[in-house]
Amino acid sequence: MAAKKLCIIGSGNWGSAIAKIVGANAAKYNTFENTVNMWVFEEMVNGRKLTEIINTEHENVKYLPGHKLPPNVVAVPDLLDAVKGADILIFVIPHQFVSRVCDTIKGHIKTDAVGMSLIKGVDEGPDGLKLISDVIREKLGITMTVLMGANLANEVADEKFCETTIGCKSKAHGPLLKELMQTQNFRVTVVEEADVVEICGALKNIVAVGTGFCDGLEFASPVSPTTFLESCGVADLITTCYGGRNRKIGEAFARTGKSIEELEKELLNGQKLQGPATAAEVHQILKHKNLVENLPLYNQKICFQGHPVKEFITCLQNHPEHM
Ligand code: NAD
Ligand code: 13P
Ligand code: CA
Repeated sequence: MAAKKLCIIGSGNWGSAIAKIVGANAAKYNTFENTVNMWVFEEMVNGRKLTEIINTEHENVKYLPGHKLPPNVVAVPDLLDAVKGADILIFVIPHQFVSRVCDTIKGHIKTDAVGMSLIKGVDEGPDGLKLISDVIREKLGITMTVLMGANLANEVADEKFCETTIGCKSKAHGPLLKELMQTQNFRVTVVEEADVVEICGALKNIVAVGTGFCDGLEFASPVSPTTFLESCGVADLITTCYGGRNRKIGEAFARTGKSIEELEKELLNGQKLQGPATAAEVHQILKHKNLVENLPLYNQKICFQGHPVKEFITCLQNHPEHM
């Protein structure tokens, strides 16, 4: 089988970090042609063209200073030259520029090329949110896959250990793309739910901005997003929703119609539930702050005032966010 030709479309912070990995793997494996084209949006840096700096010093001094790129990664300023003949196209540009880039390369790429989007963002379609990979797929008519993970470009370039996820609807492309992206310190998992992978990557950026807002406004003591990634954060949320007592009693409450107190006695043998009481406490706080309408799931009518559990869904249906 002929070696696959590679093109990285983009050369920013993440694009350059990924070029270190892709360049090294292209040189290492026969599956891929050694030379990797990297499209660079040309600009002058200290009086010199950035492509010229990259091709002589093998460093993207503007977007990833302090890291050498493999010499087989070639910076190409012309987009059509860069993508010519590529079998695998790696899209890694800020999502604002995707449409224009696709319009430019349409009709100039291999029809059986496989695309991989590393772009975290969404577009607006006529029916609401549109995935960036869908924008690319629709414009270019190629098979699309995605790669997203808890990956900070500078850390990946430093070869710190981290994991990432490739979303690939067709199983056939999984092994090839994994071979292309995986290194000793950048560990790849392949899943078929590509849309879920992409939406996680896009939406987490909003949470990150909100977290920054809170710190910037000096709300409470500093909150760093990394704490949510410790065992106490997202991991605990997943654990409790699968296997905890609160979830167990919640389910029994919905199925039997018995009260929380009765179920606690019956099923927990003296152990105490924390969830309903905590919700009641938070409810009081929300009342004082006039926020009850914004957070209807903290309304205590279901757990403590005999309202039907199905009102839980009504609360969500009538959530202010949807009105
Ligand atoms: P970046 O934020 O460094 O963006 C700058 C890049 O955009 C430069 O290469 C610049 O030349 C280019 N650019 C500027 N104007 C342009 C134009 N008109 N047309 C095309 N390109 C233009 O880029 P990045 O960090 O590589 O981010 C790309 C994507 O990767 C984003 O969606 C980002 O969310 C995602 N991502 C970034 C990281 C990270 O740590 N930086 C990690 C994971 C995913
Ligand atoms: P920022 O773009 O906020 O630096 O996040 C990079 C990223 O996607 C980490 O997973
Ligand atoms: Ca090779």
